[in-house]
Amino acid sequence: MLHVVGARPNFMKIAPIMRGLEAYDCEQLLVHTGQHYDPEMSDAFLRDLDMPQPTHHLGVGSGSRAEQTARILDQLPTILKTAAPRAVVVAGDVTSTLAAALATTFEDIPVVHVEAGLRSFDWSMPEEHNRLMVDHLSQLCLTHSAGADDNLVREGIEPSRIRLVGNTMIDSLFAHLTAAKRLAPHRELGLAERGYLLVTLHRPRVVDDPELLQRVLDALDALAEEIPVVFPVHPRTRARLDALRMRPTRARLLNPLGYLPFIGLEAAAKAVLTDSGGIQEETTALGVPCFTLRDNTERPITCTEGTNQLIGTDPEAIPTILNRLAAQPRAPLPLWDGHAGARSADAIAVLAELQALQPGASPW
Ligand code: UDP
Repeated sequence: MLHVVGARPNFMKIAPIMRGLEAYDCEQLLVHTGQHYDPEMSDAFLRDLDMPQPTHHLGVGSGSRAEQTARILDQLPTILKTAAPRAVVVAGDVTSTLAAALATTFEDIPVVHVEAGLRSFDWSMPEEHNRLMVDHLSQLCLTHSAGADDNLVREGIEPSRIRLVGNTMIDSLFAHLTAAKRLAPHRELGLAERGYLLVTLHRPRVVDDPELLQRVLDALDALAEEIPVVFPVHPRTRARLDALRMRPTRARLLNPLGYLPFIGLEAAAKAVLTDSGGIQEETTALGVPCFTLRDNTERPITCTEGTNQLIGTDPEAIPTILNRLAAQPRAPLPLWDGHAGARSADAIAVLAELQALQPGASPW
């Protein structure tokens, strides 16, 4: 089996599947495309998630989506030809995911897409292009919620290619939560439990619009008069802030955090303000109120059954969030139970005809 990771949100989705496949007689290779290459966006996750070191590094680095895709298409086929995996596992919606799925399809090897079927129905988002095209290239679409299955069927994907397995990102969250809470990263920052707002922003819609970005910083500064605001800054956002010489005056900027410190900070926050996809899901699983600074979400289940509220991209909504904390944690979502990696491995084993090391051992 060959797994491809490349950007921060890939690691926590793939790690539980690699662990699940340990129950099967198969060698596992891990290819790192290098789309994210800062140690704090990459190596920190291999370490915090107890993942093996990648067997191959493509080192594609930064560049346009076309350039990154071209570099992956140039290098991955050689690895695929030599390793001849029975299937290639890709996750989520980043550029690496689509490029790897394309290269794998060109080599006539089955693609498995983790977190398939999510749709924002917003074609201005690069992620929407990536996730939709990868789903249509995949022999096996592993989904985390029934709504994702519906999206795929509506687009003509045969139900036999879809398996509802649950949320592998939440497997990682639950597996590392105790260690993360023990770290108590908020204390190191001098923050009280449930006494601060955690912010992350990196999507082009907000950070590529200088006027909007300035208004968001102003709103965060205003909020910081009422409650401490901490903002671990994605390198993409940092580059925009540096280029425009923008800095908040009261909200605290931090470097991007490793996985354990981040989920520790997330679990103890009063609320989270974000435009991240994965963080909408993690806050729902943690029962922490989440405010999403976007006009749409590809994860509507986090709003209808979780703690997420879409507040749009107008920064005027930001000061209102402290009055909107009533969102109560609901019951855990079905199949967001810490065992999605094992169920994914079982589905992959059927596709790739893998032998279980202890036949009949898997309870899923
Ligand atoms: N995350 C992290 N450190 C940070 C910010 C986020 O470890 O400083 C984790 C977060 O817990 C989640 C993932 O990164 O598991 C989300 O990634 P990101 O927001 O970059 O991507 P998206 O989910 O929007 O695709």
